[in-house]
Amino acid sequence: MINASLRELSQALAAKKISSVELSTLFLDRIERLNPTLNAFVTVDREKSLKMAVAADARIAAGTAGPLTGVPIAQKDIFCADGWRTTCGSKMLANFISPYDATVIRKMHAEAGLVSLGKTNMDEFAMGSSNETSFFGPVRNPWDTERVPGGSSGGSAAAVAARLAPAATGTDTGGSIRQPAALCNLTGLKPTYGVVSRYGMIAFASSLDQGGPMAASAEDCALLLNTMVGFDERDSTSLERPVEDYTRDLEKPLNGLRIGLPKEFFGEGCDADVMAAVRAAIAEYEKLGATCVEVSLPNSHLSVPAYYVIAPAEASSNLSRFDGVRYGYRAPDYGNLDDMYMKSRAQGFGAEVKRRILIGAYVLSHGYYDAYYLQAQRIRRLIANDFVEAFKQCDVIMGPTSPSTAFKLGEKAADPVQMYLSDIYTIAVNLAGLPGMSIPCGFVGGLPVGLQLIGNYFAEGQLLNVAHRYQQATDWHQRRAAIE
Ligand code: GLN
Repeated sequence: MINASLRELSQALAAKKISSVELSTLFLDRIERLNPTLNAFVTVDREKSLKMAVAADARIAAGTAGPLTGVPIAQKDIFCADGWRTTCGSKMLANFISPYDATVIRKMHAEAGLVSLGKTNMDEFAMGSSNETSFFGPVRNPWDTERVPGGSSGGSAAAVAARLAPAATGTDTGGSIRQPAALCNLTGLKPTYGVVSRYGMIAFASSLDQGGPMAASAEDCALLLNTMVGFDERDSTSLERPVEDYTRDLEKPLNGLRIGLPKEFFGEGCDADVMAAVRAAIAEYEKLGATCVEVSLPNSHLSVPAYYVIAPAEASSNLSRFDGVRYGYRAPDYGNLDDMYMKSRAQGFGAEVKRRILIGAYVLSHGYYDAYYLQAQRIRRLIANDFVEAFKQCDVIMGPTSPSTAFKLGEKAADPVQMYLSDIYTIAVNLAGLPGMSIPCGFVGGLPVGLQLIGNYFAEGQLLNVAHRYQQATDWHQRRAAIE
C-alpha cells in the first residue's frame, strides 16, 4: 500500500480491501517515524485527518465516492485549509490558523473526498530552490539526507519520495514543482496559468504562481489534476474552459510526435552527466515513434534576469499585507504604528524574503520602473513569442529540468545567483504561462535526474500522455529511495 499508485489505492478502497482510516493511519504512522529525519511536514493533525478518512469511508459505503475518495495526500503549506495552521514556511504565519479553504483544498476535500495528511514544509513564501529558506528548517532529500530536496515545494517532494504520502500538491512560480520533482525522482506538473485556481493559495508572484500535482507517475498526476482544475469566480485570472478528463489520452501512441529540442537548452550550463541522461531519454522517445527537431528559444538567456525583476516586484506588493495588524506575526514591543510595522516585518520575514521585497520595491520605484520593470515585461513578451514560434515546428519541447542533481545542504545557500540559476530551464515556462512537467529519466551517482516536458497552452493532457508512454517503457519512476 505504501508504494501503490493512486489507481491501485482507489481500487483497493472501492473493493473494501482497506478502509481510508486504515490507509491514512498507515501513512500517518510512517510520517511519525520518518519525518524527524526528513522534516518534510510542518503540521500533522492525526485527529483531523482521521475525521476526513471516516467521512470518506462513509461515502464509499454509501456508493457516493469519486475515484480518489479516501486516498491520503500531502498539502503544500501555501494552501489555506480551514482550521489548519497555514504557515507558508514563514515565522510571519507560524501561528496562523486559516479560517477558510483554498479552492484547491475545498475541491480536494469536499468534492473529491481526499484525506489531507498534513501540511508540507517549503521555502519561505515559496522563495527558493532548496527549501533552506524555510523558517521551520531545511528538508532533507530522501535519496541522500545530506542533500536538498529542491524547492520551493521541497517538503511535498520529500514526502512523496519517501512515501510519507502517495502524492502531494505543489506550486510553481519559477520551477517549484518541476525542480524538486526532478531532484527527488518524482513526476510533477505545472499547469497552464489560469487552469488551477489561486484562491487561498498564498500569493508570491501572482502573474506566475500556479498550483499542480506531484506524484510518482504521470497517471497519478492526471488523476490528481482532475480534482484540482476548474473555473473559479474567486480568482480573477481563472479561465473558463470545458472540463477535461486528464486520464483520457494517457495511452495514445506517440507515433509522429514531434519533439522540439531548443538549442539553448543543450549548450553550456548543464552538468554533462545530467545531459547524458536527458539525451538517453530523448533517444527512448525516438524508439517510441517520436521525431526530433531543433528549435530555438533565442531569448531564454534573459528569463532568469527578467524573472528576478518581475517576481520580486509582485512579491513586494503581495507581501505588503503582512503588517502585523490583521493577521500574522506582530512584534511584542514597539512604539508607534510605523514602529510596529517595521519591527513586525523585520522580525517576521527571513533574509531571502527581505531581499526580494527590497529588489521589488526598487524596480518599481519612480525612475527605475521604466529601466527595470517595464523592460522585464517586454522581455517576458519576447520569451512568450519564442515559444509561439517553436511550437509551429513541434508538439512538445524537451530538455533538462535542472542543470544539476540534488546539491548539498548549504552548498549554494550563501550565493543567491548560483541558487537562482537552478531554475534556468524552468522559469521561461512560467513567464510564458505554459504547462510544464518533470519526469524521472535516470540517475547520476545515485541521485535522480529529471526530464522536462513543455507543452503548448492547455496541452496538459498531451504532456501527461507523453510522460505516461515513457513511464510504460522505463522504470526510473518506480525506483524508490532507501529510507527506513
Ligand atoms: N526558485 C524560484 C524562486 O526562488 C522559483 C520558486 C517558485 O517557483 N516558487 O523564486
